[in-house]
Amino acid sequence: MESFDVIIVGGGPAGSACARALVRGGARVAVVDRATFPRVKLCAGWISAPIWDALELAPADYPGGLWPWETCRVHYRGRDHAIACRGWFIRRYELDDFLLRGSGAALHLGVPVKAIERDDDGWWRVAGLRARHLVGAGGTHCPVSRTLAPPRPRGPVGVQEHEFPLDPAAIAGARAGLDGEPELLLHDDLRGYAWNIPKGGWLNVGVGTLEPTEVRGAWARARAHFVALGHVPPAAGDALDQVKGHAYYLFDPRHLEGAARVDADGRGGAYLVGDALGLAQPLTAEGILPATVSGRALAQALLAGAPASYPARLRAHPVLADYARVFHLREAGAAWRRSSGGGDDGGGDDGGGRGGAGVAAGRGGRRAGALAARVAAPLARRAVATGFAWMFSGARLPAPRLVDLALSLTPRPRA
Ligand SMILES: Cc1cc2nc3c(=O)[nH]c(=O)nc-3n(C[C@H](O)[C@H](O)[C@H](O)COP(=O)(O)OP(=O)(O)OC[C@H]3O[C@@H](n4cnc5c(N)ncnc54)[C@H](O)[C@@H]3O)c2cc1C
Repeated sequence: MESFDVIIVGGGPAGSACARALVRGGARVAVVDRATFPRVKLCAGWISAPIWDALELAPADYPGGLWPWETCRVHYRGRDHAIACRGWFIRRYELDDFLLRGSGAALHLGVPVKAIERDDDGWWRVAGLRARHLVGAGGTHCPVSRTLAPPRPRGPVGVQEHEFPLDPAAIAGARAGLDGEPELLLHDDLRGYAWNIPKGGWLNVGVGTLEPTEVRGAWARARAHFVALGHVPPAAGDALDQVKGHAYYLFDPRHLEGAARVDADGRGGAYLVGDALGLAQPLTAEGILPATVSGRALAQALLAGAPASYPARLRAHPVLADYARVFHLREAGAAWRRSSGGGDDGGGDDGGGRGGAGVAAGRGGRRAGALAARVAAPLARRAVATGFAWMFSGARLPAPRLVDLALSLTPRPRA
């Protein structure tokens, strides 16, 4: 049985980032993945600016297809908004293969991990390999995640998506903007959104919803919307029938309690990174960035000989600290809506003046309230569309200390 310092189950962005940093620090690392790479990974392939630092890679040095964009087209409550902000699209088929093969780890691909055992001497035994440290980077259904059983206060989000090749001229003739520019359809209640992304000779379409049981209906509506606008070429018809589904967890600070289980002597342990832990951005569901960030944070903790410091490193990381703020803002907004009779806990204001109209509709104030709502509604719609596009581009929250101060005045789950 071959021995390693670390065995990583899963070779997606979380696993490959962890592997790469560990190998560069001198560790012997094996990555075990049930897939042979390159492999299809359901994903729109959008990446935001902080990813380049996290990957220690410059866009110019990435050899795969890369689609930079500077306008995000957001359709929200019947209106179209072209928002100036920037980001990139890649194809996961290429990115994950590039990252994994560049990690320097010993790759055991096409090997599904079914059983995880631990012997009396503290060695993890996985797929005929052994190591003191075991990393779960296997996504939502990671077998290591089953062992650590991290807290799951809320269910996963549901997503359906398909990326398929098509005549580039047909895509160019139908798309809403430039090549690589995202077209987003925000749900009125902000409990989900759909996307339509032209990538040269590839089209990526899909939808995600906070409630997985809503995703099929949401896809039918998104498809009808994009088709009615003529923003998907007629030739895409059959491919649109082939969307596939997946579910994954958005960031919740309580997930971090299940990030590590370290042996008393500190010589070994089991850890979760990326989707296996549940780290995706609480509103946009961006997952590649936190997967990469967590993989690196764990590698740094292990290389420092301080595996127990991993959860604290995650909490302190600027990306995840921002996610915690967004999470708490979303919870505070939902609590406010419930207390004001709105009822919905879906993660956002409706932007159409519903809350404002409700507040203003006291005795004698109905007419003024209705007028204010009519004036405010387009502004609110624009603000929601801009805010979402801005988060989509990976921008940090402004004035984080002020946000922290405001949040410190509201009751919230433990971070
Ligand atoms: C439809 C869809 C669209 C998305 N779009 C975006 C987007 O545009 N941008 C973005 O940032 N995020 C997006 N996400 C989220 C993003 O894809 C994930 O958050 C990200 O892939 C997490 O990376 P990971 O390394 O943790 O897991 P994964 O990328 O899922 O990698 C896990 C790996 O583990 C392997 N594995 C699983 N089980 C086993 C086992 N038993 N044995 C061995 N190997 C195993 C799998 O084969 C896989 O290679 C999207 C998700 C979905 C579902």
